Amino acid sequence: MRKICFASNNPKKLEEIRAALEGQIEVVSLKELGCHEELEETGKTLKDNAFQKARYVNQKFGIDCFADDTGLEVQALDGAPGVYSGRFAGEPRSDERNVELLLKKLEKESNRSARFVTVIALLLGNREYSFEGEVQGVITREKSGTGGFGYDPVFMPSGYDKTFAALSMAEKNQISHRGIAVRKLVSFLLGEKE
Ligand code: IMP
Repeated sequence: MRKICFASNNPKKLEEIRAALEGQIEVVSLKELGCHEELEETGKTLKDNAFQKARYVNQKFGIDCFADDTGLEVQALDGAPGVYSGRFAGEPRSDERNVELLLKKLEKESNRSARFVTVIALLLGNREYSFEGEVQGVITREKSGTGGFGYDPVFMPSGYDKTFAALSMAEKNQISHRGIAVRKLVSFLLGEKE
């Protein structure tokens, strides 16, 4: 089976991506490569950050790899936190504090529209590709659900009455920003000759 590194330290994402690629592509983690550092994300866009991480791992370990970067864009906040979603409430990064800050900023706001966007950067040898996925939804007024991570407890995808955190991983993968981007990646990789 083809081996590709997923350049992320997030165990939940690794689990989601492994589930999506199961039986098709072996996904190697950074840990398995012996890479224990925090990868830099200093770009101005999701795409810049995804390529920054993928290029770093590709150059350092000489392995085909992909990296993702995700942002939550809230309409009433002019697209914030966007590329700064991970650091919304400052350093050290905390999902809990990010969610609390988001709910506070939207306390008096009736427009709750938001979207998640994921960009995946793929490096195969010296060839570079990117794939994008997005999902529309709303930010709820309270947290609910125990699954997922990040902003999942307050993001309710359009057409659903539950947050991402209240959906099963399979249900989330089916409709999520990352699920959509990953399926584009998978169909590209499976259509490729090795
Ligand atoms: P990253 O750049 O993909 O690591 O993510 C940036 C921020 O978005 C972090 O705060 C993550 O917790 C959050 N995030 C990324 N993907 C998701 C998701 O699928 N659901 C909820 N939050 C997410």
